[in-house]
Amino acid sequence: MQSTAIKEALGILKQLRQIMETPESVPEKLRRILETISAKMQADAATCYVAVDDNYLELFAACGFKKASSHRLRLRYNEGMAGEVAEGRRSLVINNIWMYPKFVSKPELLEEKDFQSFIGVPVLQWNRTIGVLALYNAREIDRSEVDIELLETIAMVLAEILASEEMTQYKKSLIKSRGMSTKERVKGLSLNKGYGIGDAVVHRRRQSVTNIFAEDKEKELRRLEIAHHQMNEDLDAKFNSTKLGLGEHIDILDAYRMFAKDKGWYGKIAGNIRGGLAAEAAVERAYEDMWNRLSQSSDSYLRERLHDLRDVADRLQSYLSGDYKQAPDISAKDIVIVAQTMGPAELMDYDYSRIRGLIIEDGTPTMHVAIVAKALNIPVLAKLKGIFGEIQNGQTVALDGNEGFVYVNPSPQVETEFRKRIAEREELQKRLAALRNLPARTLNGVDIGLYINVGLPMDFDYIETTNCDGVGLYRTEIPFMASEAMPDVGKQVSYYKDLMDRCGDKRVVFRSLDVGSDKLLPYWAYSGEANPAIGWRSIRITLDRRAILRQQIRAFLLSAAGKELNVMFPMISDLAEFEDAKETLLIELEKDKSRGVPVPKKVNIGLMIEVPSVVFQLDDILPRADFVSVGTNDLAQFIFACDRGNPKLSERYDVLSAPFLNVMKTIVDKADAAGVYCSVCGEMASNPIEALALIGLGYRNLSSSGASFGRIKSMVRSVNTEEIADYMKLLLKSTRNTLRPQLIAYAYDHGIEIY
Ligand code: PEP
Ligand code: MG
Repeated sequence: MQSTAIKEALGILKQLRQIMETPESVPEKLRRILETISAKMQADAATCYVAVDDNYLELFAACGFKKASSHRLRLRYNEGMAGEVAEGRRSLVINNIWMYPKFVSKPELLEEKDFQSFIGVPVLQWNRTIGVLALYNAREIDRSEVDIELLETIAMVLAEILASEEMTQYKKSLIKSRGMSTKERVKGLSLNKGYGIGDAVVHRRRQSVTNIFAEDKEKELRRLEIAHHQMNEDLDAKFNSTKLGLGEHIDILDAYRMFAKDKGWYGKIAGNIRGGLAAEAAVERAYEDMWNRLSQSSDSYLRERLHDLRDVADRLQSYLSGDYKQAPDISAKDIVIVAQTMGPAELMDYDYSRIRGLIIEDGTPTMHVAIVAKALNIPVLAKLKGIFGEIQNGQTVALDGNEGFVYVNPSPQVETEFRKRIAEREELQKRLAALRNLPARTLNGVDIGLYINVGLPMDFDYIETTNCDGVGLYRTEIPFMASEAMPDVGKQVSYYKDLMDRCGDKRVVFRSLDVGSDKLLPYWAYSGEANPAIGWRSIRITLDRRAILRQQIRAFLLSAAGKELNVMFPMISDLAEFEDAKETLLIELEKDKSRGVPVPKKVNIGLMIEVPSVVFQLDDILPRADFVSVGTNDLAQFIFACDRGNPKLSERYDVLSAPFLNVMKTIVDKADAAGVYCSVCGEMASNPIEALALIGLGYRNLSSSGASFGRIKSMVRSVNTEEIADYMKLLLKSTRNTLRPQLIAYAYDHGIEIY
């Protein structure tokens, strides 16, 4: 910094410190500080925005504006010029602000339009933006490097003020006056969106086992047999409820039920009794043995099984002790469950039509109970250290699954706000359902193919309810996983034909068996692999066990006789693998033809793009493929070398960043150039903001989960493909590790619906 600027800065800073020491209120001090800075730096007006929580900047003080109303103007990070400064943590100088693309005119600050130039600097603390300081001039003004440095230095002093105890107290009083006491509000990790409010029900686990040794082994074995039988009868009745709807949660509950009936587990408990333990202690020992074996595993699927096992073991204990008869006596109409940890079936012990929210102190995104809650439309929050001990039964708890906050004993204002939001959400569900018969056409008239992903037959109902264009991914391994033994060709045909019939003329894409890694068949022995996600899985298994692949192909061919058949192969790593799988299909087709078996009228053979090596061989593969579908879940896992099931890494890398988006762009561009049908069937297509980016990259076919379909369609109908394509060109050059805030701001500014 030049010496004149240093002198200048010291003079200003001295004055600022004097203002800080006056007994005036915080807003008054800030306003006077702004006046001083404006005068010294020849500005006509100034603003100071402060980050109130991590999502918003709020105008705390302004000078030189006729109308600027402090505390009434809020900006999201990356919204407007000040938002850009906050997001980028970098200074910004603009002349002719009206022409600046990021400029947003706010009625609360109308006179902004009377100004020509802007200079904004971030106020930083520990590398985090805590505010933005900005100056405005009515005429264009040449701001030098020295001016910028001077303002940045002033921002450092301002940081002291914004981070001071006085300011913290002031912010707290502001939040409180709006009915949001900071003490009553706790931040967690959202596992399912939505708002809920109700009486807390603290979910307690069973007491520790006191009955250790068997006095009479035969008697203990009988007790076990009766308890086990009763438990399974009750589980069958509970999970057969038609109210449970459809989806992945059904697989989880079915798997749980199989687990509860598992002969191996039962045998271990009985063996422990024969060894001298009482039934309760024998159950506990069987759990501990399993825990010792599985808890060190890096496989998230196996670790999640431990939660299920804990749940089953606790359940069996309650049948042994007779406690199961004492169902929780809850009179409240709306309840929020607070648990330290929980298994999927434990949630079902409550009357789920009354559950408005679930808080799990130790939860992880892949936790089965979270998946079940999601399917039941219950907002879920996790990772709230210490909350379990703090909330008492009967306290009112409001849960904001969108921003990830829990409010304990919320003020009447917060309660009113929550009830309003809940009503709005219900309204939204109705609006989405009303889109059913409208085309998935963008604002500029581009039709987007919208498909759904299915697994169990229950998912098939979505074909009708969503009125989708078809099934973009049938995960055929799911019926295999739900079966007790490998389904033969006849059984497979019955599954597949059911889907073909339900779809009529709609497109259906069958994926060949994608097992291994986190999708295990209960009747298959897996040799423990060090890295199952990149191990012997998926097409690698079915090419090595060719009979399984051939049988499945025969079932596909039979179920699509007279119709169009689309088959794709997962986890293809190179052209040779694809050609091998393709040839297997063509041989089966020829065999059927020569035997006079009815065959499909057309067969399309494609592959999933989920292994990076294939992206580099697209020029050779595309001419030989009828279609491709991008599996973004696995592709992102391999591009970032980041286990898709590891909660520690779940927020570390973002598919909405240039490295991944550039890969996605390469794929769609090459497919378009080769004239090959291309779609996305990974999670990205189920998330509106990510699907928006895909459309901007050029994707025209998306396959989402049935539950997300309405939200994706709503986004599609509110977007202009040309405009988002232009914006994506800019984003593809960005070096930021996430472009999510930019895309959210874009959607917000352009009225794109991303619920
Ligand atoms: C994917 O990897 O994106 C995909 C769709 O397959 P799955 O999630 O079944 O592995
Ligand atoms: Mg995959």
